[in-house]
Amino acid sequence: MNIHEYQAKSVLAKFGVAVPRGGVAYTPAEAEQVAQSLGGALWVVKAQIHAGGRGKAGGVKLAKSLDEVKRLTQEMLGMVLVTHQTGPEGKEVKRVYIEEGSDIGSELYLSVVLDRQYSAITFIGCKDGGVDIEEVAHKTPERIITVPVDPAAGIQPHHARSLAFGMQIPAELHGDFQKMVFGFYEAFLKTDASQVEINPLVITKQNKLIALDAKFNFDDNALFRQPEIAEMRDESEEDPLELQAAKFGLSYVKMDGNIGCMVNGAGLAMATMDIIKLYGGEPANFLDVGGGANKEKVTEAFKLILSDPNVEGILVNIFGGIMRCDIIAEGVIAAAREVSLSVPLVVRLAGTNVELGKKMLATSGLPILAADDLADAADKITSSVKKQAA
Ligand code: ADP
Ligand code: MG
Repeated sequence: MNIHEYQAKSVLAKFGVAVPRGGVAYTPAEAEQVAQSLGGALWVVKAQIHAGGRGKAGGVKLAKSLDEVKRLTQEMLGMVLVTHQTGPEGKEVKRVYIEEGSDIGSELYLSVVLDRQYSAITFIGCKDGGVDIEEVAHKTPERIITVPVDPAAGIQPHHARSLAFGMQIPAELHGDFQKMVFGFYEAFLKTDASQVEINPLVITKQNKLIALDAKFNFDDNALFRQPEIAEMRDESEEDPLELQAAKFGLSYVKMDGNIGCMVNGAGLAMATMDIIKLYGGEPANFLDVGGGANKEKVTEAFKLILSDPNVEGILVNIFGGIMRCDIIAEGVIAAAREVSLSVPLVVRLAGTNVELGKKMLATSGLPILAADDLADAADKITSSVKKQAA
């Protein structure tokens, strides 16, 4: 799960990380009020969407008067921001964050991730942060330093020192920086985050360290014990199909192809997508209906697959281990009837009661193509979709 920048900053602030003062606004009038209560002479109007790269796309603007705050908010709300992280369809701005403008001396980069290679929570730092970090990483990867933290010993002052030297932080700021690094680590750990990124971390002209941008990703599996974080969820930022899937306990990820897949087990789902590609097709989604797929779940899964307008055929690939094949066949038949299926459907079943399951499909009167094995299934679905297109 992701949260907005202003929420991320409130989480960081709780852990003692310095962030600019600010407030969220849903209307230009609210934005003006927030700016007025912040005081000062420079504000920043920041589009709140679940994606980075806003600065370059016109989603971060400086304002020098209250009128300008109002005008920029007016322009930004309702705008569809297309950044390198949103995909070509972009994301609509529904709220903005008004914060005090900082007098930036230099922009650095700092993030914490769970690094699988080190099997440890790991800091990534760079003295050159800001909106061109991707280019820095690409052209001068040697400037990026990684500092893994031993999970048994936890964070130690030497981690902060390694980062401070690697990021060329001036000596007089090392104390503040260490405090920030510790707070950052605590925030990551205590909120069950999977990634936290501060880009840029700035050193102001007044020589203060401050987190000017903040992004959090959380481990969804731990949300049940993070009610305060779960509360911050903004469903309007999420893919509506994936959201719908989650409500029914289905793992669904939308892809760009035209062959919908319904599979039980994540590994089998991956293998199914691979074999579709091997046979020259393109999967429209990843969908794992889980071990205990019943008729209701199968029907929901069908509806979900079909609500993607790109889908021109469906491949069901189910191994009946915990679940018997005849039960699955019953579910597939009922679901196909309920949604009045209009695209080719290939079903491959294997496991307990497979013969009975196949017989039920064959005698259902529905145009279901039965497949003997995975290769046969992939062949059948890719050729029926091609035939349809021709
Ligand atoms: P994004 O990463 O989505 O582009 P950022 O919050 O990092 O958005 O903002 C982009 C750039 O805008 C920053 O690198 C910084 O130069 C500038 N900026 C952002 N917030 C402020 C602020 N409060 N004061 C001054 N400049 C800012
Ligand atoms: Mg940023």
